[in-house]
Amino acid sequence: MKLGKVTLLSAGPGALDLLTLRAARVLSEADVLLVDDLANPDIATLAPQARVIAVGKRGGCRSTPQAFIERLMCRLARRGAHVVRVKGGDALMFGRAGEEMRALRLAGVPVEIVNGVSAAFAAAAGLGMSLTHRDHCAGVTFVTAHRQDGTAPNWAALAATGTTLAIYMGVHRVETLSETLLAHLDAATPAAAVQWAGTAQERRLVTSLGRLAQDVRAGDFASPAILLVGGAVGEALAVPHADASTDAVIARAA
Ligand code: SAH
Repeated sequence: MKLGKVTLLSAGPGALDLLTLRAARVLSEADVLLVDDLANPDIATLAPQARVIAVGKRGGCRSTPQAFIERLMCRLARRGAHVVRVKGGDALMFGRAGEEMRALRLAGVPVEIVNGVSAAFAAAAGLGMSLTHRDHCAGVTFVTAHRQDGTAPNWAALAATGTTLAIYMGVHRVETLSETLLAHLDAATPAAAVQWAGTAQERRLVTSLGRLAQDVRAGDFASPAILLVGGAVGEALAVPHADASTDAVIARAA
């Protein structure tokens, strides 16, 4: 029997028009879609010929075990199917792509990647700021506040880089996270939260690190949200938003 393949496809932050043309083509060729719960389920409209299986892995909720997803992908591809594993944002950013590629390679199943827009980029676009503004920083660091083994990232070392920090999965622990960062960064350091970045429900908050936790709670920001911290975020305050129709929550830095 002809061997199929697996594509790890990036669905972007939500809006279907943030998908790449390549993603649209691959979706139109898929036999089976395995869709993560952060991906917009409407993506299935671009693959009307495909069977759709929802495989949520949302932190804290009921989810499909990772080993089961990997076995399912291998089994379907071995039967000749083109399996498209749809992941929110970019598939290579905090999406278990490394584990899945390893399992697929060990099983001899061909695997390819289609890139997309990661949440931090959509958040920065919504805020009208550059993640790497050269007046403020020499780069951006993508970091998760939640590590698999339960330990925290080395915030002291991250603060010392002077880069913009784009913090994924941090909104639940914004109090401890900002308290730790405040030991290494000035309270006036610009900070932002963007919930549902790149979607019609996008909500934005721009504040300072010293006020981040209280403003996030007062604004009822919850997952999925990105936190951005660093001098470059200060530019967001200076730029009026072109799209006044979105539900923007803007607080001035203290
Ligand atoms: N691969 C994804 C990230 C998956 S990890 C990407 O590249 O964007 C899940 C975390 O991503 C969420 O906890 C949240 O921090 C962030 N996230 C995903 N989609 C988001 C969105 N639309 N708006 C804001 N944050 C989002």
